[in-house]
Amino acid sequence: MKCPYCHHDDTQVIDTRAPEDGNTIRRRRRCTQCDKRFTTYERIELAMPVIVKKNGSRTEFETDKLRGSLMLALRKRPVSAEAVDTAIQRIEEKLLSSGEREVNSGYIGELVMRELKRLDKIAYIRFASVYKSFEDLSEFAEAIQEVKKT
Ligand SMILES: [Zn+2]
Repeated sequence: MKCPYCHHDDTQVIDTRAPEDGNTIRRRRRCTQCDKRFTTYERIELAMPVIVKKNGSRTEFETDKLRGSLMLALRKRPVSAEAVDTAIQRIEEKLLSSGEREVNSGYIGELVMRELKRLDKIAYIRFASVYKSFEDLSEFAEAIQEVKKT
């Protein structure tokens, strides 16, 4: 890291701080030549994994699409936009921290169901009934029983 003042290329780290989000590390540096101080930020670069659909085709992850399916399930339900944002954030963090370069769309479906179960039981049943395409009434009843238990 070059000194921004005198361009000397030897600087010393005098303080390192990892803020609460854990993604950016802040370092205080001191130039060993001119003794001026400056701050650098280090960010972890994480990439969203590519989504592998059931038919084997690949697609980019899109937050808007994820939000779309959540909103559809939550239509007219008493859930705040903030709660939806938090759920989306949690899903994205799971995907990022998986470290995988590719994930099955089924995995994302499971993550969505987990969040919906927490947010709103009706929305969960809506999503699950489409997503899991229940074959008959008994499967549907089973899902409802499962929700009742939690
Ligand atoms: Zn310097």
